[in-house]
Amino acid sequence: MGNTINFGIDLGTTNSVIAKYHQGKVEVFKNPVGHKETLPSVVAFRKDRIIVGDKAKEYLLKDPENVVGSFKRKMGTTESFFITNISDTKTPVDLSSLVLKELKNFIYTGEPLEAAIITIPASFDTIQSNATKKAGELAGFDEVFLLQEPIAASLAFANKSDNKDDAEGQWLVYDLGGGTFDVALVKISNGEMKVLDHQGDNFLGGLDFDNRIIEKIVVPYLEKTGRFENLEHELKSAKGKYNRLYFQLLHKAEEAKVMLSGRDSTDIEFEIEDKNGEIMEVYMTVTRAQFEACIRDMIEKTIEMIRTIIERNNLQKEEVRHVLMVGGSTFIPLVRNLIKETLALEVNCNVDPTTAVAEGAAYYAGTKTRSPRKKAEQKTSSSPYNVTIRTAYQKTSQEAEEYFTALVEGNFKNLFYRITRDDGGFDTGLKELKERITEYLPLVQGTFNFFTLKIFDDKNNLLDIPTDPIEIVQGKFNVLGQPLPNDICIEVDDYENNTTKLEVIFEKNAILPLKKTITKEITKTIPKGTDSAVVINVLEGTRSASPSTNSSIGVIEIKGSELKRDLVKGSDIEITLEMSESRDLRITTYLLMTDQEFTNLFNPSERHVSAMRLRDEVSNLVTRIKDEIRDAEKREEFEIAAQLIKHQVELEELMREVNLLSADDVTDAKYQLEDRKRRIAMVVDTLTRDKKITSIKTQYFQEKNYDKHIVDEHGTEAEKRSFYDIIANEKQFLASNSPTVIKDVIDKMWQLRAKINWRRPEHIIWLFQYYSVMKYNDYPDKQVADKYIEAGERALQRKNYEELKVTIGALYNLLPASEEEKFNIKGTGIG
Ligand code: ADP
Ligand code: MG
Repeated sequence: MGNTINFGIDLGTTNSVIAKYHQGKVEVFKNPVGHKETLPSVVAFRKDRIIVGDKAKEYLLKDPENVVGSFKRKMGTTESFFITNISDTKTPVDLSSLVLKELKNFIYTGEPLEAAIITIPASFDTIQSNATKKAGELAGFDEVFLLQEPIAASLAFANKSDNKDDAEGQWLVYDLGGGTFDVALVKISNGEMKVLDHQGDNFLGGLDFDNRIIEKIVVPYLEKTGRFENLEHELKSAKGKYNRLYFQLLHKAEEAKVMLSGRDSTDIEFEIEDKNGEIMEVYMTVTRAQFEACIRDMIEKTIEMIRTIIERNNLQKEEVRHVLMVGGSTFIPLVRNLIKETLALEVNCNVDPTTAVAEGAAYYAGTKTRSPRKKAEQKTSSSPYNVTIRTAYQKTSQEAEEYFTALVEGNFKNLFYRITRDDGGFDTGLKELKERITEYLPLVQGTFNFFTLKIFDDKNNLLDIPTDPIEIVQGKFNVLGQPLPNDICIEVDDYENNTTKLEVIFEKNAILPLKKTITKEITKTIPKGTDSAVVINVLEGTRSASPSTNSSIGVIEIKGSELKRDLVKGSDIEITLEMSESRDLRITTYLLMTDQEFTNLFNPSERHVSAMRLRDEVSNLVTRIKDEIRDAEKREEFEIAAQLIKHQVELEELMREVNLLSADDVTDAKYQLEDRKRRIAMVVDTLTRDKKITSIKTQYFQEKNYDKHIVDEHGTEAEKRSFYDIIANEKQFLASNSPTVIKDVIDKMWQLRAKINWRRPEHIIWLFQYYSVMKYNDYPDKQVADKYIEAGERALQRKNYEELKVTIGALYNLLPASEEEKFNIKGTGIG
């Protein structure tokens, strides 16, 4: 048994596929039942057994309550499916694991499936990725690696292509499947492949087209020709009168859609009982033009995402070799035509859209070795010589020869080895076996090279000592790394706004695995033994957004009860975040002051969306957007106000749809609506961030003018220099458009001014007046305050400003803590 993983699985929304890498080639396995390469990702629960695949799909028509499909769209949520037949619920992770288990039956060679590469959409976030891994574990895999689907498709394309030119440069992968859409910009240079950027929608695919046929063609037809009440609702809600028919219609709509990829019109036939209980026999014709009209906006949305990628990466059309078509929905002629017509890009249909992802995963699996611990467990075979050989070499190479080395353990005295290339083009001849053997293996260009290592005794008898086959791919392609789909941030206190804000740790598109250590300041004292805590909240999303628009992937609380001694405000905390290629998040925190370290490992696999909560959030957002509009109008920023109003309209429409949601809605609507809410919240954030920036820029100019005057008049030469140094970079820091950066500059100027003022009698006198008169009512202990004020007045008469400063300090300290810590926010405790 080799030590590479070899198996690649496309765990698709609609269809799953398993492929295996073997000696340089990839084989897509077929279902022993029906001999198809695809296994529909559908699970049916009968009383006595569980059925997965085509057969389960058939039950969808007869018994929809006990059949589940499209659960990949709900990966990473807390949504689960109640199954009547077993009186139990199943999570998306459970259901995915059943599909994975079913795929084991495809492996006619009888090999155990213990480790695999499972593909995920490039847009899958940490929670969704971890849910996928968990499904693999539940299916009994002891090792699962994740690979992003566009990379997998590109690997399949590049490794299959005979034309080496095809495999250089950059291209777009357009993957439109049953439930998700992904477009990715992929680049190959020097044989290494990486995703540069991607854009996607986890709720856009063939299933939506099927739905549109029902919503826009079938329902209007029924309403026109028959008598129905609340037809759409009765179809879609779990307890609706026509819920069973809804699933049948989905099936028929899909059939019609597939037909329309090859012809101009097709028919849909079914029976339905109208509101008077009369059976209506429906026979309707659907044309391609009708179908295209009702999905056009969704295809245009995908084209818009391609445009976004092209613009974001400043690509010229000529720099994009082609658009590689992947996913069953790319069979739809409108998809191919719109890309050609509106973008003038070449459409490439050279891979099988339904199997390419699994094939690419298998190529990757062929280069990925199992982790040593697990390999050791699996390897138990021994020989009388008790010799074990561990090999090490680069499995993909762009060189003419590759360095090979092996470590030999056991009783190898008087034994010999010989390495031959399987095509007969290379032979080391017999050589004495040593503790370590090294060879340079010559490679045939542009293909897979196989070598065999054999062990002989001194009489040239071949010994039965297990050695792994040596496989090196020359000129084929390797994955350089997988990019992070979103920013990973931590939440820190934001004093200015009395709230919290995001600080980015890993940026979107950074290549996994990632590791970073940052040092932050503790912003409130945590007494030992108390419940008060420092909170480290790791979020995934967009850094420019407010924390509420992002999803939390790990929270650490360091409580006073865990501390060895008090953690004092102002002391440092070191936070190390590590994210593995398979998205495990490890957070290590070190408190310098107490010399304590805490380590937490997160692999969150659920996100929860409740219809109720969604309603609240949308309604809060409605209130907020109204406030912001008023505010923008007051500031006479009509441009921004107009944009906000546009989003208000959108939001009100969203509110309407959210209100229509029944608590037991069976469709994906909740997640789609939540997604829309998050998008709107982000736009509002960005628009009002500009407001914040405008106000902070105004603040900067005020501070600058004021300080300039003081520095010029009262500053030393050195102080003048540092002031003009600070403002010399004005253009740059203002262009950063970052409130934090600009605030830092303001703080620096302020400190300089304070230092100068602290020398100026006029200012010291002013301060004394401020604390003795303006603040007088705030002193809890007036007697003590009076004493200091008297002392201050005496010092003032003597013009002893040093003494006056001391009294000012004393008065300041008398103020209650709330005044002293003006920005005492209920935040994270780090900033
Ligand atoms: P996924 O990646 O989501 O598992 P696939 O790539 O297997 O999905 O694509 C499945 C989708 O492709 C389904 O919605 C199916 O209806 C659609 N599909 C398959 N063949 C065709 C076709 N010839 N024309 C239009 N749509 C098709
Ligand atoms: Mg797919």
